[in-house]
Amino acid sequence: QLTLFKTERRKMFNIIQELRGNVRVFARIRPFLPNDGVDEGAAPAVEQRSEFALKINGREGKEHKFNFDKVFPPSVSQEKVFEEVSEFVQSALDGYNVCLFSYGQTGSGKTHTMQGSGVGQMRGIIPRAIQQVGAYKTSLEKDGWTYKMQVSFLEIYNETIKDLLREGEHGDKPKHEIKVDGSGRRYVTELVMKDMDPNCDEDVEAVMRQAAKHRSVASTDMNAVSSRSHSVFTLHLTASNAKLKQTLRGKLNLVDLAGSERIERSGATGQRAKEAVSINKSLSSLTTVFNAIGNKSSHVPFRDSKLTYLLQPSLSGDGKTLMMVNLSPTEESFGESLCSLRFASAVNKCELGKPKKSIEDDEGEPKAKSNEATTRGRNGST
Ligand code: ADP
Ligand code: MG
Repeated sequence: QLTLFKTERRKMFNIIQELRGNVRVFARIRPFLPNDGVDEGAAPAVEQRSEFALKINGREGKEHKFNFDKVFPPSVSQEKVFEEVSEFVQSALDGYNVCLFSYGQTGSGKTHTMQGSGVGQMRGIIPRAIQQVGAYKTSLEKDGWTYKMQVSFLEIYNETIKDLLREGEHGDKPKHEIKVDGSGRRYVTELVMKDMDPNCDEDVEAVMRQAAKHRSVASTDMNAVSSRSHSVFTLHLTASNAKLKQTLRGKLNLVDLAGSERIERSGATGQRAKEAVSINKSLSSLTTVFNAIGNKSSHVPFRDSKLTYLLQPSLSGDGKTLMMVNLSPTEESFGESLCSLRFASAVNKCELGKPKKSIEDDEGEPKAKSNEATTRGRNGST
């Protein structure tokens, strides 16, 4: 067990978690890009004020200030961002249900944050998280643990789940449903769970290529499906120790949310209007869920959308959540940025229950049952 709580830093992180609940909100302002069409030296509409504060400049000189657990300026490196989220990855390695969201309007840097662009320094959270798992696997195995990692990658579009790791699009496409297993764990039916060695560069590259492929297909699509769908990349982590008769199961969900822009305003009709409604449904049920948690409401409507139902274990009592709100620095994004910041502020006020690890005796029932079990009693699946 000692290996699981090795560093002082992690002790501190756990103490902070105990004191402050299990929801964190970070904000990241992206730099100006050539496509923004902004003159060199122009002042950004959103500015970092300190490590924990930012301001957004409205019209007529009005400033709005916001505080978060962390604010990243446009100059921040992918490496530094990952350094600040790596404790969440570690929590998943320790057996918690963890969820990292990237939230923001289209073009604000969500995918850049999660997947990154290309290789090397520009790699985002997903490949870096896998690398961290690899390093931990190596150290655990030295201490007599066996370690298994599986990955899944899905997209939720119009309240329909699509498996992004399923090869070949022909033939009958399976229908995916969210269900709860005998131990109260949530899973998606017919979903490809790829065994993956986190220390094998080729495995990692293959998965990242698949993710990038999905992105490029989407970007040539007229409807730019990627900006209207949520993608959920999940690391399923299992560490077992035969001597200690213990199994730790952690889950790390890395979620690239649909663009938060209010597309219904553009007078969309037909398919696009349908999209607008269901994207709003998922995103707004995410908001409703956070509000209900924030208000300590007795009923949290996790079942109202696929996204919130799937992620319920990370969003409720035994989970940990990080919301990364991504912001564009342009003046024309002011309205959307302000909306994002208000949403992020509401999330910042939320507090999940005290986290519980899912440690189980190999022959027994899970010691820390997630509170999904109560949901299961009512109805096993959607
Ligand atoms: P979103 O997923 O929110 O729609 P993207 O992550 O695709 O936005 O970002 C839009 C564009 O901006 C991409 O070309 C991306 O590479 C670039 N970009 C976003 N954030 C940064 C950043 N911090 N540094 C450099 N380029 C960035
Ligand atoms: Mg994107």
